[in-house]
Amino acid sequence: MPELPEVETTVRGLRPVLEGRRIASLELRREDLRRPFPPDLRQRMTGARVIGLGRRAKYGLVETDRGDTLIFHLGMSGHWRLDPSEIGKHDHVVIETEEGRRLALNDHRRFGSVDVARTDEIDAYSPFVRMGPEPLGEAFDGAQLAGVLAGRSAPIKALLLDQRTVAGLGNIYVCDALNLAGIAPGRAGGRIGRARLDRLVEAVKAVLHAAIAAGGSSLRDYVQPDGELGYFSSEWRVYGREGLPCPRCAAVIRRRVDSGRSTFYCPKCQR
Ligand SMILES: [Zn+2]
Repeated sequence: MPELPEVETTVRGLRPVLEGRRIASLELRREDLRRPFPPDLRQRMTGARVIGLGRRAKYGLVETDRGDTLIFHLGMSGHWRLDPSEIGKHDHVVIETEEGRRLALNDHRRFGSVDVARTDEIDAYSPFVRMGPEPLGEAFDGAQLAGVLAGRSAPIKALLLDQRTVAGLGNIYVCDALNLAGIAPGRAGGRIGRARLDRLVEAVKAVLHAAIAAGGSSLRDYVQPDGELGYFSSEWRVYGREGLPCPRCAAVIRRRVDSGRSTFYCPKCQR
């Protein structure tokens, strides 16, 4: 399942193909993914020039010179294919640029989405309305986090996964950031001191930057035809590493299941 670093890598991979380019056609090969495509999506994108690409949480943003932004989410299995030699049955959206480059959004499980919003009203796009700050942005810092967590007795892990605390963090990077910061996933959010929150913010940024760097180094594969954007293998600190040594103290990493989700942590150095 694509997490924030994969979406960031996807956006970086799409940029050279789309930025500054005119969209010659946008083909919708079915009516919906997770929800119906906007009825005017094709008309609003066809002939528009892409003036910028970006990301908000786990959504990719494609901004056009008409004041519209296409907003895509990769769901569980979505990825863009660059210049596919043929279009397959799981390629649900196909964009062709004026230069003849083709991009296909392939999503066999169809939990992804494609929407369009006015760029100047994008904060009102419903998934963004109550979203917290970007984890890699300056607004996410120890002071902001201390404010959100004050008085909260819920476990820090659950609070970090809550998109109102910080946007776009998934299970993998929350587990790894808590390990890097030496904080136990079950600790009450409101009972973590400010110095440790500062370390936690730094840890969140560090694990995301490391994963994006790993994705960036795999980007060169995508210049090949049929390249698939968005998936790469990354070395995690504790996630998926039950029974292996903790990178901080070499104690054995444990896994526990809370409300259906795995938590990987070190019982010795995370407090
Ligand atoms: Zn440890």
